[in-house]
Amino acid sequence: MDLGIRGKRALIGASSKGLGRGCAEALAAAGVDLVLNARGIEALEDTAEVIRAAYGVNVTTVAADITTEEGRAKVLEAAGHVDILVTNAGGPPPGTWSNWTRDDFIKALDGNMLTPIALMQAMLPHMIAKGWGRVVNITSSAVRAPIAELGLSNTARTGLTGFVAGTSRQVARFGVTINNMLPGIHATDRAASLDKGVASTQGITIEEAATRRQASIPAGRYGTSAEFGATCAFLCSQHAGFIVGQNIMLDGGAANISI
Ligand code: NAP
Repeated sequence: MDLGIRGKRALIGASSKGLGRGCAEALAAAGVDLVLNARGIEALEDTAEVIRAAYGVNVTTVAADITTEEGRAKVLEAAGHVDILVTNAGGPPPGTWSNWTRDDFIKALDGNMLTPIALMQAMLPHMIAKGWGRVVNITSSAVRAPIAELGLSNTARTGLTGFVAGTSRQVARFGVTINNMLPGIHATDRAASLDKGVASTQGITIEEAATRRQASIPAGRYGTSAEFGATCAFLCSQHAGFIVGQNIMLDGGAANISI
């Protein structure tokens, strides 16, 4: 299917690896020029080179921590105006409700709520003026089906979800859509580090932890960055203009929610 977005420009946060990279590759395959970001320069440059070689699109890289004001300023300066914004950053660590401090909450809110909001506030005016834009926020299935030990993530991401619910409906009439993608477990470094955490708390091997977690998913496996990216590219396509303010679960059926 031609997604109808060839020649457009996208900023994708936290995109040298994992789900952000999956989105970047799928958008590049649709002919979209990219601005990629990550803190580590090496993986970022490697990813950019692979994408340029595979898809022939222009790729700009910005090595910066997107959750800091300084890092965001660097990213926004390099990106200028874009047609497509995919917000993403690393997730907060797991823990227990009784141990989280105010500083832990502020860090989580900065990373997973205030950063995507700041990026939208920076990019939406130009999209509105142009009469076309697409925003996809990578959040988590924990927004719909909260995971107890990921309380910092649950808290920050539901705040973002509230912002998107209202804002997406205010900008839709200008041809701009905002939607959230809610990943369940996908085979990325993040999933590997959560497997490691489960292994150490349950006293089992990492392989056993992964096997048990995969068995708990109706699809019987973890998701892939490629299928996640393909959904992202569709949401950014010309065909998705009537999808507004939605929270799309990609979890292999793990959360038993009927509506
Ligand atoms: P990942 O594999 O750990 O990838 C993280 C990517 O983000 C890397 O490119 C990393 O590069 C970059 N990054 C991390 N923090 C950054 C920052 N502050 N500024 C700029 N770049 C940053 O993570 P993922 O699995 O793709 O997950 C993406 C998001 O989805 C996370 O918020 C995660 O919590 C959420 N999520 C993931 C899953 C899953 O199963 N994978 C499930 C639910 C939710 P550098 O380290 O070099 O910066």
